[in-house]
Amino acid sequence: MNDKKHITVLGSTGSIGTQALDVAEFSDDTVDALAFGSNIKLGEAQIRKFKPKFVAVSDERSADQLRIAIADTDTKIVDGEDCVCRMLCELQSDVCINAISGFNGLRPTLQAIKQFRRIGLANKETIVAAGEIVKASAAENHCEIIPVDSEHSAIFQCLEGNRRKEIRRILLTCSGGPFFGADPDRLKNVTVAEALGHPTWSMGAKITIDSATLMNKGLELIEAMHLFDVSPDKIEVVVHRESIIHSMVEYQDRAILAQLGASDMRIPIQYAITYPERIESPSEPLDFFKIGKLTFFEPDRTAFPLLALAERTARAGGVLPCVMNAANEEAVAYFLKEKITFTEISELVCDITENYRNIKTPSLSDIEEANVLARELVRTKMI
Ligand code: NDP
Ligand code: MG
Repeated sequence: MNDKKHITVLGSTGSIGTQALDVAEFSDDTVDALAFGSNIKLGEAQIRKFKPKFVAVSDERSADQLRIAIADTDTKIVDGEDCVCRMLCELQSDVCINAISGFNGLRPTLQAIKQFRRIGLANKETIVAAGEIVKASAAENHCEIIPVDSEHSAIFQCLEGNRRKEIRRILLTCSGGPFFGADPDRLKNVTVAEALGHPTWSMGAKITIDSATLMNKGLELIEAMHLFDVSPDKIEVVVHRESIIHSMVEYQDRAILAQLGASDMRIPIQYAITYPERIESPSEPLDFFKIGKLTFFEPDRTAFPLLALAERTARAGGVLPCVMNAANEEAVAYFLKEKITFTEISELVCDITENYRNIKTPSLSDIEEANVLARELVRTKMI
């Protein structure tokens, strides 16, 4: 059997993107195309190594510089507005990994759904903001969406061979982040460097801050609700400090299936590419004797109000998950620039989401408008 794949990696210079390319290199897959924002140094190295046909670079000045740097190669650079979507129209890879960060990944996801038979989706903001639209389009275009997020990959695996209607609960595991057990008062003064110090995973800056506020788990709850068609009432967040159990599914008979492994994103990335096959992986084996014990705690919704907000927003549905996500992206960017404190992230996001007038069944343009408006509201509150 020929198990070498053709893949396209969007967000190739990021944390997930670089690991996706590690997986591709290890499996000797062909990389048809890449997309990234402005990191042309790493982008050039990737072009020289993987020789993709196309590369989309969203920042136009970076694209111009890169064109000169790689003039001796056969790679074609696409740039400017909608460059990722325009590039995708030219492609036919087996799998498209979407590892662009934030709401900017939504249009590329919708375009990739039309173009490819399979998407390995890391960009959770896509599903959070426009879950119903993405699912309907995937069904219409016969495109499989295989989750890359480790928890959702785990749930996906625990569902294999079982019946969704027999699910009792999904147990969504959460590392608890760097401030697990911290006094809520202490959280007011945490620094950007402290918030970027994740205990078990090494990731991009935005998702690392989301992991510290537990917004990441809130976004993942909404992601799980859409991907697996379960009510948010059936999804329970369990703090599991060691990040060894990546999530669990409990069935009607009280049997619980779990998926375990090292904290290595290359495992779920590779599975999204090879599913249903399992092949040799570049990751290290898990040593249970070194781990010793696995622990479980209830999340602290008082210290981390964004988790509770996401639970309420998941039930409300409509345009509010998009509003919450947009306000959060903007607030996190301000925190990373040291313009607001750590606890002001949740204050801003709760305030904007809770006071926004919901649209129950939003169109794509309603969602795109809400994304812009929620960001403007954050900026207005900053003045
Ligand atoms: P990073 O910030 O490390 O990487 C983001 C990537 O997206 C970079 O390559 C960046 O390019 C590119 N990018 C940003 N905006 C655009 C745009 N408009 N057009 C094209 N490319 C763009 O993020 P992560 O890899 O950490 O996360 C990516 C996604 O995966 C997020 O949605 C995150 O929630 C999700 N995820 C991440 C996990 C992790 O372990 N990191 C785990 C589970 C999910 P450049 O830097 O060159 O500007
Ligand atoms: Mg995750």
